Order: sequence, then C-alpha cells, then structure tokens
Amino acid sequence: MTGTMMHQPLTISSLIKHAGRYHSDTEVISVETTGGVTRSTWSEIEANSRKLASALEKLGVKQGERCGTIAWNNRRHLEVYYGVAGAGMVCHTINPRLFPEQLIYIINHAEDQVLFLDKTFIPVAAKLGEHLKTVKHVIYLGPRDEELAGMVEGLLFYDELLAAEGDDYVWPDLDETMPSSMCYTSGTTGNPKGVQYSHRSTVLHTMGGNQPDGMALSARDTILAVVPMFHANAWGVPYVAAAVGCKMVLPGPNLDGVSLVGLIDSESVTMALGVPTIWMGLLGALETTGSKIESLERTVVGGSALPTVMIPAFAKYDVALVHAWGMTETSPLGTLNQLLQKHSALSDAERAAIREGQGRPPFGVELRLVDDTGAVLPEDGKTQGDLQIRGHWIVESYFKGGGSALTDDGWFDTGDVATVDGDGFMIIRDRSKDIIKSGGEWISTVELEDIAMSHASVASAAAIAAKHIKWDERPVLCVVKKPDADVSEADLLGFYDGKIASWQVPDKVIFVDELPLGATGKVLKNKLRDQYGDVLLSDAG
Ligand code: ADP
Repeated sequence: MTGTMMHQPLTISSLIKHAGRYHSDTEVISVETTGGVTRSTWSEIEANSRKLASALEKLGVKQGERCGTIAWNNRRHLEVYYGVAGAGMVCHTINPRLFPEQLIYIINHAEDQVLFLDKTFIPVAAKLGEHLKTVKHVIYLGPRDEELAGMVEGLLFYDELLAAEGDDYVWPDLDETMPSSMCYTSGTTGNPKGVQYSHRSTVLHTMGGNQPDGMALSARDTILAVVPMFHANAWGVPYVAAAVGCKMVLPGPNLDGVSLVGLIDSESVTMALGVPTIWMGLLGALETTGSKIESLERTVVGGSALPTVMIPAFAKYDVALVHAWGMTETSPLGTLNQLLQKHSALSDAERAAIREGQGRPPFGVELRLVDDTGAVLPEDGKTQGDLQIRGHWIVESYFKGGGSALTDDGWFDTGDVATVDGDGFMIIRDRSKDIIKSGGEWISTVELEDIAMSHASVASAAAIAAKHIKWDERPVLCVVKKPDADVSEADLLGFYDGKIASWQVPDKVIFVDELPLGATGKVLKNKLRDQYGDVLLSDAG
C-alpha cells in the first residue's frame, strides 16, 4: 500500500528509551528506605531496567504474567516500573496500607509470580508467605542483607540480580494493547477489583495528561512525586517524567511536612504532586521551619477534594494549586483545572472560585452526567447527576471481572455525583454513596466538610448521613479539633450561618480523636455511618 504513515506501537519501553537517550544526564534523586539519598540519571535508570528485564526472563517469568511490588517511591521501584512492563510483563503495584487479608486476596487473585519488596515490607511478606499461592520469587529491593535473607526463604537481592547482567538486552517488540501495569481499587465495599492498564492506554494517558492545560511538565522542571507509586500509577508521573525528561525527586518513606520542605529546598523542586492531607502537613512545616519554598511554582492536588483554604494558603508562597480528579479506573487522570482565555476578564475572586473545582477533561476523555434512569442531564453548572466517563485510558472490564464494567452505551459510571458547566468544568459534589438525602433534597458532604475545615480550630472533618425519622437522613459532622483548640458544637454550627442554606446545616457535631482512614488515606465514611448513623434516632427517643 502507498501513502501510509509509520506505525510504531505505543509501548512503555519507548518512554524510557527516549529518557535514556535524550535526557541521559538528567538526574533522578531517590530517598532510600534504609536512609540516605542516591543520585542517578535517566540513562542509568534505563540501563538498570533493561538489566532487570533480562534477569526476570532468566527467572522464567513470561510475558503477560504479573510481578507485584510493595515499595515506596524510590529509584529501584522506578526501574521495576520500566523493567517489568518493558519486558512485556505486568507491573502490579500493591498498596501496603491494605489489611493483610486484602493483600493476600490481591496477590493471589492477580496470580503474582514475583514480589518486589522494600525493607519496610519484608516482615509483612514473611508473615503472609504461606498464604501466597503463586509467588515463585521474592526480590528485596536492595543489596544482599543476611538478616533479611534469614526472614524470607529463598529471598533474592535486586542489586545482585542486576550485577549479574550485561548491557546487551534489547527491549522486545510488543503489541501496544498488551497489559503493562495493574492496580486494585481499595475496595471499601466488597473485594478490591483489579484494573489492568495497557501500554497504549498508559502512553496516551502520558501524552494527554501532560498537555499545557494538564500537568504541563517540561524538561525544565524538577518534579517531586509525593503521590505514591503503589497506587494508581502515581497519577502517571513516572511515565510523564520520562517522556519529558524532567529531573525527578522520589521522597521514599518520609512524607512528613518537614522532610518534604527539606527536599523541595535542597533539590530546587518546581512542581509537586500529592493528596490534600500531605499539603496540609507541608503548610504546617512551612510555619515551623520558616522556609519560603522559593523554587516551588505549582502543585497538582487530587485524590480527595481540595480544601478551599489551601489555595490562598499556598498563594502566600507564590505556589499555584492545580486541582485534579481521577480514580484507579481512569489511569487516573480524568480532569485537571487550568483556566481558559476568557477567564482572564474575570476578577481574582471569580477566577479563584473556578480553580476550587476539579477542572475539565484533557483531550482523550469525555464526561457526561446522567440521572437515575440513565437519561443524560444538562451541563449547566447547576444540575447534579451521576458522573460517567469514557476515553482512551478508562477501564473497560476488571481483571477476571466477568464481562464489561460499562453501561450499555459504553460509559463507565464513576460513583461520583457532580455538576459540569458549559465549558466542561466539573465539580464533585459527593460520592453517590456518601451524599445526604434529606427530605428529597441532596446535601453535599464535601461542601459541609470544606466549610468546617476553614474554621481555625478544626484539624479535619467528615460529614455523614445519619438516619432521621422525619427527613430520612440528616447531616452529622464528625470533627477532630486542632491540638489545644477550644471550640463548641454551637460555635461550629453557628459558623455555617450565611454560608449555606439553613436546612443544610448539620444537626449535630460529634468531636472525635481521629477519623478512620482507608488504604489511600481517605476517610472511611461507611465506618463512621456504622458508628454514628443512628445517633439522631436515639437523640429523638
Ligand atoms: P479508591 O479510594 O476507591 O481506591 P481511588 O483512589 O481510585 O478510589 O479514588 C477515586 C475517588 O476519589 C473518586 O471517585 C472520587 O470520589 C475521589 N476523588 C479523587 N480526586 C478527587 C478530587 N479532586 N475531589 C474530590 N474527590 C476526589
């Protein structure tokens, strides 16, 4: 045939090949689990990932088979991302904060052949050992260590495996639709579900998510990836960083504010990504350390709703916050919040208000809202509905999930309730299972929490639906006070005056020592509902 273009499969190895070749001396900085910082370069990462690929083949791991990782963000974990997927195997990242039964379920369900472990997690593996049915090789992400060797039978050492390899391994040609990585949802209800990403979906996510109106990373950036590599591909950051060849800083296990401020200052970080709780810690550390984080230009914040108070708090340091939304099933980038040209005519306050929302889809994904019957709703910025998504990097079916996970007309239902405006700017109002249905009206727990969090005495807050005889459900607010703060229920309820309609104000405030958190650091509202869901019934009686 004449008049055609080249076809090159969109593979993970093409990303690391590019970084190794065209950004060879750009640094990757890694805080090690055992202490200390190592400095390497993209060309070393590329060479090491090829050595790993070769070593895995020699261990008998086949294309398409899963290799699990339980590790922090560090250099070896990055090499595993590339070595495993580049060889045609599937890099299955596992969240160490899951309960042991969930870990066992996930590893067996994925049929992991290999388990890569950081030092922190060797004891966990030693305990789970006999329950893991498919794992043939456990590899410690470090040099030989006799103490660890005594804990896990047949333990292999990453550095030794690589040292035995030459430099002659060539990345295999792969079909771009083959699976490359995998992550399980955290399964707050029922068993976790496995999402397998393909080479193609990952490369398109990398290109689509990093447009100038997306993450906007470039070779001139130094990126701090606080978002964990063990969940949802670290928002695609390891792939984007290689595609653009930016300097990358991997913070290891120390995610407290003071450690992060230290890294930002010492490595001149320009851009950082993480969940809101991490940035709350960082803001606290800025006050105590006096650092002005002068190099930091922007952060991408997502995973749960951005507390609006954080935008002005970071603006004081000249740091722009880009709010993003996504989920395990969406690779995860679904929306990112950057303004449009027409917004430059707006006042600062109006622009700030738009930035509080979750933003709009990049090229490659589409959103829609539907009602209970599946009818498509208007995108007017007011009408709330179930948020659905489709696109190049959205799940179609779960791993061994038995059939499509989509609606009959091919959309994925996110489980979130949202509004979308005429420009596609989306605002998450709630998760559909969390929203409070009071006498036929809906009350957003996200909004109630955001107001509570802007009170000077509140460290964290969660609003839940409590059963109510007359209204079916009414809001109850669970609050953790800041240390030494003195605030009463009446003070907090009064704080809502004029901020929302009076019928939306919570019926009750319950002060708690801490909120129950799930494996991705989100509040487990089902636990709170179990505990406090009847509290208004007993009050009435
Ligand atoms: P899980 O916590 O079940 O593993 P994910 O980690 O994939 O799920 O999280 C996906 C969910 O997190 C979304 O469906 C949404 O409810 C919530 N979420 C993610 N980002 C945001 C955000 N920026 N604002 C509000 N909620 C968010």
